[in-house]
Amino acid sequence: MGEMPEKNVGEAGSHKQHVSSTVGMPDQVGNVARRTMEELAEDICESQGKSMISLGPLERVYVFWLAGMSCDGCTVSVSGATEPALEDLLTGSIPGVPLVVLHHTVLTLESGDHFTASLQKAVQGELDAPYVVAYEGSIADERLTAGCEPFSASGSLPLWAGSEERQRVSTAEWVKRLAPGAAAVIAVGTCATWGGIPAAYGNVTGSMSVMDFLGGDYRSALGLPVINIPGCAPVGDNFTDAVQAILLFLQGLGPLPEFDELGRPAWQFSETVHTHCVRAGFYEEGTFAKEYGDKECLVEIGCWGPVVQCNITEKGAISHMGGCMNSGAPCIGCTMPGFPDKFSPFYKSPPGSLVSSNASRLLGSIIRPLRRISQRERNREIRWHNTVPSGWAMEKGDTSITHKILEVFYEAMQFKGAKRPDRDPQTKFPPGHRSLPVRVYGDSDYQVLPEERAKAAEKRA
Ligand code: SF4
Ligand code: SF4
Repeated sequence: MGEMPEKNVGEAGSHKQHVSSTVGMPDQVGNVARRTMEELAEDICESQGKSMISLGPLERVYVFWLAGMSCDGCTVSVSGATEPALEDLLTGSIPGVPLVVLHHTVLTLESGDHFTASLQKAVQGELDAPYVVAYEGSIADERLTAGCEPFSASGSLPLWAGSEERQRVSTAEWVKRLAPGAAAVIAVGTCATWGGIPAAYGNVTGSMSVMDFLGGDYRSALGLPVINIPGCAPVGDNFTDAVQAILLFLQGLGPLPEFDELGRPAWQFSETVHTHCVRAGFYEEGTFAKEYGDKECLVEIGCWGPVVQCNITEKGAISHMGGCMNSGAPCIGCTMPGFPDKFSPFYKSPPGSLVSSNASRLLGSIIRPLRRISQRERNREIRWHNTVPSGWAMEKGDTSITHKILEVFYEAMQFKGAKRPDRDPQTKFPPGHRSLPVRVYGDSDYQVLPEERAKAAEKRA
């Protein structure tokens, strides 16, 4: 981000367009910039000499990020997204994508009643642009709380009352009030999409997913059911990428994003982890890790990748770096509706996986040696018949007789019905033509190492 213009920093209410946003409210504790998120975005654009021109019907979209039974891991993940980055959405830096005005308990500048007032405005339909609800964590059954204190809350109402007369508002209540008018409701992370860890066996808080909370009949103001971006924590890019795809569609600049039957972005979740895993070749050749830290396929130490829908192996955790299998951890199914109970205990291999891993092992015991033969041969220059001029002591040029016999059959199959790479002097050159290397070194000697060529010449002499 570029630096903000000095004249604007810290000057309360000095911004030309949004003076009214801070009028009549108590001072904001913690909002040292004394800006709203929109004002900050405009300041940043101004400092970079950019103008905020909308290429579609939407200039801005509000996103209300609420947290229920959450560990904040989803927030950490999304704030580290890079494709696109959250900062790009919040500063309107992506061509065609409207400015995203984020209301998030940790990331938003507005604090206290200023923060709650925005939620109220959305509920009362007083915002000047559409809004989206993003929910992190599962939704607890607030009827189970003791002393009327919610399990998870955001702000207290009514705003005009003193603190003794106010009541804290649970985030479940905010969802209930905001969902009907929202352009979309996005559940972020497995707690919000399927209940996740808070809804695991025992579930003392009666936790459930956003989809379960709002019911199967729920449709947003734009007619959308709940959109689910699972993962514990989810790939941050999956959230920002889905938001970007939806906004581009609403601007009339992108195709209709495809979702699967459980509301997951189909382009992110239709394939399994295993399909793009960096260790899939080991599985296919039947070689398996025995303990954590081994480089082979992790299925026998608990990997559920072959049945888990997730794109972590392509996307990585952040900037295409890291991510479970990429960094040595078996897939424990954290994107799946059955997580965690249906995937535990995490250290055991999935039932039934032995059938397929043993089949791979059997097939691999035949395939592997054959591949190593071809690999060894393909790892040779055509000049290296007898000698490899490598200074590395372990590299040997000589090839066993078995190897040579197998190579004859291999090459016969390789060039069956095809032409070998060769020169045909009869068709390419005038009759009797002899190329310069052939004239200098003889018919057979030019395609060998100089040392061997010298020996051959000596013998002929
Ligand atoms: S889905 Fe995972 S990372 Fe996100 S809030 Fe739940 S436990 Fe935390
Ligand atoms: S580590 Fe898991 S996802 Fe990767 S190849 Fe093995 S079973 Fe498949």
